[in-house]
Amino acid sequence: MRRGLWSLLLAVTLVVLINCRTEQPRPRSEPQPPAPPVTQPAEPQPAPAPAPAPAPAPPVPATAPATMPAGDPMLSVDTLLPETEPDFAARRVGSERYPLPHYAKFLRGVRVCLDPGHGGDAHLRGFKRGPTGVREAEINLRVAQYLRALLVASGAEVKLTREGDYDLSLRDRAKVAADWGADLFISVHHNAVGNSKTNYTSIWYHADVDRRPSNLDLARYLCDGLYDHLPLEQLTDVPLKSDQLMYPGGFGVLASSSVTSALTEISFFTNPAEEQRLRDPEYNFREAYALYIGLARYAQSGLPRVRFVDPPDGVVRLPRGDSGERLISDDAPAHAAVADASSTVDVSDSPEADEPPDAEMADAAAESPAGEAQNGWLVVTLQLDDGLRGRRAWGSERQMILSDSIAVRLEGELVEHVFTPGDYRLFVLLPGNLDSGEYRLDVQFMNKNKNSVLNPGLTLRIEP
Ligand SMILES: [Zn+2]
Repeated sequence: MRRGLWSLLLAVTLVVLINCRTEQPRPRSEPQPPAPPVTQPAEPQPAPAPAPAPAPAPPVPATAPATMPAGDPMLSVDTLLPETEPDFAARRVGSERYPLPHYAKFLRGVRVCLDPGHGGDAHLRGFKRGPTGVREAEINLRVAQYLRALLVASGAEVKLTREGDYDLSLRDRAKVAADWGADLFISVHHNAVGNSKTNYTSIWYHADVDRRPSNLDLARYLCDGLYDHLPLEQLTDVPLKSDQLMYPGGFGVLASSSVTSALTEISFFTNPAEEQRLRDPEYNFREAYALYIGLARYAQSGLPRVRFVDPPDGVVRLPRGDSGERLISDDAPAHAAVADASSTVDVSDSPEADEPPDAEMADAAAESPAGEAQNGWLVVTLQLDDGLRGRRAWGSERQMILSDSIAVRLEGELVEHVFTPGDYRLFVLLPGNLDSGEYRLDVQFMNKNKNSVLNPGLTLRIEP
């Protein structure tokens, strides 16, 4: 009788878990990965690949040693095992087991916003909890905190969307990243599904692959880090997934983000063995380390960016004649206008690699003011940065941007551009008859490591 009641409770809880508003994937077209034998759910994790680390992390025990808190496990708070030593994370950062690889130095100055999913939901019975009550919100927060410790040790700037056990809206989470000026936004989650045997890693990007290619870069590097340093026994065949597989509008937190972003579903807390591993701070640190290695490799391969040069603030002020008409003539071809604009930049005398040619820019701007209607076209000048040239490595003067990867769109429509490889200027030709107002200028390009620009979406304002 009592056993029957518990079974009923468990069934109800599972139904609630599966149906609640959530980012939990339930693959439709993809078959579930093969389940491990039921008789050995406590298989230890295989040791990670020794990629950059002199000493690979040892296997993590499958079952955590301590017992769960007393009382109703589906309502208990603090379901994670406590850190048993002071400065738990600090002792691990840069230790033999978790070394900071030399290439992590390229994380210096990179702004990473970490978003521990959920929070403030301990009072919701069974909400986002594993079979014995371990809460996803707690795991997510701990992993994000450990990841922060690793990133900060490498010189990155880090902000968490939440520091404690409280919730904030998906939109507000994305806003934290945007307001802070983050380069990267990572939402940290763990997954849930009805099949308790399921346990694999997936990384999610918003909408379609063309929407923001840098999202795929971030997702790919995070996935690589997890595969090397937290290899789970199961794989999903294509681990980078569009959030529109789950909802037509995608995940709210990714859809709201104006920053290059990805959402990690590191593993499944609905898998009983994985749930117990996830309680363990050592395992959580290992998760963080896997993400950290992915981010370090990403930074090492260069984070491309784009910015306005002329006009420097992205505001085009159209000159007017005495009659109030715009000074635009329609008779010359676009390339003549660009030749005009680019001729003021002396490419042969480029300054040192990581010093933007500010003086020359100023000269160029003075001689060829942006927004001035040139032969029926507006020429806007942008500066591309491949994320590599500034390192002044041997060969830095050579082109490290793939010319054919450059595409510029005004409100979604392709517009013409001219790229000058010597100084990485991009001259964009816009129709001279644009009305006043705000326009979205989308600039895409890849560096030679095939990393796409982090901030492709620029806002152009046309003022009369
Ligand atoms: Zn979640």
